[in-house]
Amino acid sequence: MDLFQMRDFDAHEQVTFGYDAASGLQAIIAIHSTALGPAAGGCRMWPYTSLSDAVTDALRLSRGMSYKNAMAELPFGGGKAVIIGDPREKSRHRMEAFGRLVDSLGGRYITAEDVGTTTTDMEQVAGVTPFVSGLTRQPERAAEPVAGGDPGPKTALGVFLGLKAAVRARFGRASVEGLRIAVQGLGGVGHPLCRLLAAEGAWLVVADARPGVAQRVCQELGAHEVAAEAILSQDVDVFSPCALGAILDSRSIPTLRARVVAGAANNQLACDADGEALMRAGILYAPDYVINAGGIISVAHEYRGGATAAQVRAEIEKIPLRLTEIFERARRESKPTSAIADQMARERLRPLAATGLRPLQRASAGA
Ligand code: NAD
Repeated sequence: MDLFQMRDFDAHEQVTFGYDAASGLQAIIAIHSTALGPAAGGCRMWPYTSLSDAVTDALRLSRGMSYKNAMAELPFGGGKAVIIGDPREKSRHRMEAFGRLVDSLGGRYITAEDVGTTTTDMEQVAGVTPFVSGLTRQPERAAEPVAGGDPGPKTALGVFLGLKAAVRARFGRASVEGLRIAVQGLGGVGHPLCRLLAAEGAWLVVADARPGVAQRVCQELGAHEVAAEAILSQDVDVFSPCALGAILDSRSIPTLRARVVAGAANNQLACDADGEALMRAGILYAPDYVINAGGIISVAHEYRGGATAAQVRAEIEKIPLRLTEIFERARRESKPTSAIADQMARERLRPLAATGLRPLQRASAGA
């Protein structure tokens, strides 16, 4: 594996490999850019089948975080960590070893939960480093709830509002009431998203790879379950991918029957050409790193300290406005929404990078 020649390397500032024999930790931290501030992005734990798969995932996710943070107007750069392993084999020792690896970077990278890690894991990481967010702590005598906690429900809120913006742009409707929506993945984001959609009267068809999960959501919300491999090709208005990335490619796109794709998963497009393919197929795609920014908005405000939960919500409510701007610009320029989002993110990164802003320092540990 020649890291510097990898297609996804894309001028990363730093890639750190960490190993801890005692706990079995094998981790990679990729820092794409600190031009706007310290690199912020979650830590994924996944049983990658090869080192090269793990590195590729870290690089793609980390670059996505640079674009996501820039588009969400956060003073943070882009980074991501991956721990190689089955999340069921997690241990306090391993999370603390990961925390020491994060700490060794001196604040250039701030971690949080992602697929395969939880707020409990981040509390363990917080025992050895201040460079972590997405914690459950609330100050004892706060006048109102402060920013923080599990980012999943905040991501779900942003996806819900963004999905509605896409529905408005594609179908000219202000509500999802009566629309058929397929949700792939019913975890920390997909499940609360289904609750919001069901509360507004959407007809839901759902799938999850874990046995019994979809059944529970169906019982709770009156959704309809289909097999995981059938969810993409359902006869629905909207497809909402909330599982893993690279699900939209030259094989899957022709099978889509939805007219809108709007979901939480990172890196939904297998490659840039898939954005073009969606546009040609008449499918409106809500760029992943714009629509799924709710979690990082919460994590970023928690880390900096001083923000209330209501202020975080107000920031998340800007997501549909950004998407609407992207949809309109894509229509005017006859370009894929994914290309427009990339262009806008790069425009935001460039002038700020040139000012040589110093990475932000955290106000206080555990804020
Ligand atoms: P999660 O691990 O809690 O849930 C993912 C769910 O998807 C699991 O229930 C899993 O069984 C299911 N799944 C996996 N492969 C599947 C398949 N092929 N078909 C159907 N179901 C499948 O993760 P999450 O926190 O809900 O995140 C979901 C996605 O959103 C991920 O891509 C993540 O990177 C992205 N995301 C999450 C956040 C956040 O705040 N949690 C923020 C931004 C982006």
